[in-house]
Amino acid sequence: MKNGYFRDNIVKMKGYVPGFQPVGAGWTKLNTNENPFPPPPAVMQALSDVTGEKLALYPPPQSTQLREKYAEAYGLEPEMVFAGNGSDEILAIITRCFLDRGSAQVITDPTYSLYDVLADIQDASTVKLPVGDDFSLPEELFGRSEKLVIVSNPNPPSGVLYPVDQMERLCRESSGMVVIDEAYVDFSRWNCLDLVRNHANLIVTRTFSKSFSLAGLRIGFAIAPKPLIDGMMKVKDSYNLNLLSQVAAAAAIDNIDYFMENVKKVVAERERLSSQLSEIGWRVFPSQANFILVEPKGIEARAVYEGLLERKILVRFFDKPGLDRYLRITIGRPEQSDKLVAAVGELQQKISR
Ligand code: PMP
Repeated sequence: MKNGYFRDNIVKMKGYVPGFQPVGAGWTKLNTNENPFPPPPAVMQALSDVTGEKLALYPPPQSTQLREKYAEAYGLEPEMVFAGNGSDEILAIITRCFLDRGSAQVITDPTYSLYDVLADIQDASTVKLPVGDDFSLPEELFGRSEKLVIVSNPNPPSGVLYPVDQMERLCRESSGMVVIDEAYVDFSRWNCLDLVRNHANLIVTRTFSKSFSLAGLRIGFAIAPKPLIDGMMKVKDSYNLNLLSQVAAAAAIDNIDYFMENVKKVVAERERLSSQLSEIGWRVFPSQANFILVEPKGIEARAVYEGLLERKILVRFFDKPGLDRYLRITIGRPEQSDKLVAAVGELQQKISR
């Protein structure tokens, strides 16, 4: 295919590389931060209650009933809520709304690697500000004049959670739009939802892919002042969230308590796995998400990644300078952690022999 047909920036850009999604059974999948517990029967029932007649029609274009339900559950007005095909779609809509050719956004380095890909598509640039050794926010992030600042909170790959007053300061001091990506926030001690009421330049994004066990259905939300939601509505696809996802998301909201019990289990498992890996001498960064970042000791991260892969255990290895000494491990069920820890023990023994 002749690349000359594409816009120059599309030819130059790399594109997002998702974590490996294996086909077939037998994998212990701890690489893309999904929830290890399935959604409750009520959600499955709601999905199977959808008739063929319903599927033959377009879904509600603005997900109106779903947004009303979400708003009620979280103490918001429906006009402050946007529903999308995963928070990835919402992030794409945001960059399309606020970044034009030649403009710039600011993010931390490292963070979620989709942000700069989305700016590349807009032919906009990305200022990447390195975080501290403990993954803390750099001072230069504050008081920016670029069109967009995106901070994930908690921020991957470490899962560090920034204080609400830091996020508040970010909104106050940025002259452009601020996005706080709260994909993992249900696993955290606090969140920034309340800031939306007091800052005209803040969009909080959320997802049902993590705490709500629905990654396969692609459901995301944005919470923002009404004028921002109105603008985003103009940019979205006509029927951006399919009917099954709208139905499942509504049923999920009716069962929030069920999901929050699972969240508690994941958080308890995060603490258990963190202490087990600390006990064998690995560095474990404190995480407020459903994953942990670890630095293996006495064995290379890459060797651990490869050894685990041979045993059909998938974790995330970032083959990049600065990050290649770490592994990011999604929190799974207790028996999955046990399998991981046993495999790590084997690998370490093999090395020390
Ligand atoms: N934000 C962050 C920080 C993420 O890690 C992810 C998941 N990879 C997303 C957003 C996207 O989530 P969704 O499944 O809702 O598109």
